[in-house]
Amino acid sequence: MSYFEQFMQANQAYVALHGQLNLPLKPKTRVAIVTCMDSRLHVAQALGLALGDAHILRNAGGRVTEDMIRSLVISQQQMGTREIVVLHHTDCGAQTFENGPFQEYLKEELGVDVSDQDFLPFQDIEESVREDMQALSSLL
Ligand SMILES: [Zn+2]
Repeated sequence: MSYFEQFMQANQAYVALHGQLNLPLKPKTRVAIVTCMDSRLHVAQALGLALGDAHILRNAGGRVTEDMIRSLVISQQQMGTREIVVLHHTDCGAQTFENGPFQEYLKEELGVDVSDQDFLPFQDIEESVREDMQALSSLL
């Protein structure tokens, strides 16, 4: 069975279990969480959240990017969230590279010039959270 087939089968079971909950569209806690896409991070379980409790927005490193801001504006202005949690974590993939070498790697491997792209790597978690909180406080 392919992963896709497994996902479809799991989704049928999920819909059978949760399909009739009729939860409100707006998150119950009025919280939006910005966090990493790391597959080891199960945000709902880690924070004790249930379905419908919070918006969970994810990308590489849990960084505040232009598209993260777009989602946060919708979350706050259309869906009623009032608090934002920035959640970075230890042993993050964003701590495993630096822009320059990664840009060179992509040029060699894929033949693309991404020399102007900041992939937002970081070394210090507290510093990266402060940077992202600063970015948010100047916008929202
Ligand atoms: Zn991560």
